[in-house]
Amino acid sequence: MNHDAPSPSAAEPLLNLRGYTVHLNSPRGTVRAVDGVDVAVARGRTLAVVGESGSGKSVLCRSLLGLLPDAAVALRAGTAHFDGVDLTALGERELRDVRGRRVGMVFQDPMTALNPVLPVWRQIALPLKRHLGLRGRAAKARAVELLDSVGIPDPARRADQYPLQLSGGMRQRVMIALALSCDPELLIADEPTTALDVTVQAQILRLLDRLRAERDMAVILISHDLGVVADHSDDVMVMYAGRQAELGPTASVLAAPRMPYTRALLDAAPTLHGPRGQHLAAIGGQPPDMSRLLSGCAFADRCPRVQDRCRTEVPAMTRPPGSAHEAACWNPVPPPRPGGGTVTGISAARRESSRT
Ligand code: SF4
Repeated sequence: MNHDAPSPSAAEPLLNLRGYTVHLNSPRGTVRAVDGVDVAVARGRTLAVVGESGSGKSVLCRSLLGLLPDAAVALRAGTAHFDGVDLTALGERELRDVRGRRVGMVFQDPMTALNPVLPVWRQIALPLKRHLGLRGRAAKARAVELLDSVGIPDPARRADQYPLQLSGGMRQRVMIALALSCDPELLIADEPTTALDVTVQAQILRLLDRLRAERDMAVILISHDLGVVADHSDDVMVMYAGRQAELGPTASVLAAPRMPYTRALLDAAPTLHGPRGQHLAAIGGQPPDMSRLLSGCAFADRCPRVQDRCRTEVPAMTRPPGSAHEAACWNPVPPPRPGGGTVTGISAARRESSRT
């Protein structure tokens, strides 16, 4: 990735969230799933969103496109401008026009997103008909072209097959073809390779990189895998308990994390440079109950650097002089020694494992 390019805050953003907040109804009360997120993504760049499950990353993306059931959403606040239009102000009909046409989505498990009783070309033809008015032979020809563009061999034959007749990697390529069918400006990929083996994972991620560059798309890549983030994103937002923990150029965040949670995620990721047989560090404790109003830092109960102030005041995102990224922490991790850093180790470990 081009880690030297300007960060999204410097370029004109395609998507710009300010104070974006989503509260969900749950049997335990209202859950603060996304809490005051400020982030921007520019065309041609990939923003990775990282965090443990329940950190709010999927709720953030799904809520933007109106993909959460109305009854589940207790509150949505803040703004989410997409090419100048605030998505939070759009009704379901208007959002349907954005979804699939201007914003494509790829999910973790294509079997739940694809219809098992429709040949794949017919599934790709649905958005082509709805958004572009393509029907019949023209729609099928375009579907075959799209399958070809995502690297499906013998696309004309595969187009007539059903999802169950395809391998997991091929189904994920079909999902990507479907998401790209109307030439979206933004692609949201929610753990797109988690269910795949490491070699197919690498192929799919390289495919997404190529398509992003060819189409000048913006990409939001949701992942819990810091190796994927290191190799396939320009910028990263670390989320914890619905809040932003760290945000900025991927190279800067992964080489010199300031928030202890990011440091802990890195320590829990495999690298090639640790001693042989070394156990990976686990993050002790549990995330907080997000139905409680937290008076201080959400990571306080698990943090090795916690101070009194952390339990009473929510830390704001700040960028100190000399750092290329922002973090929310009252007692940040000191910068690494010169020559230290973690990106190379993680990336190398991934490349090694994708060869085996
Ligand atoms: S604000 Fe305090 S508790 Fe939170 S991550 Fe920083 S040091 Fe840890």
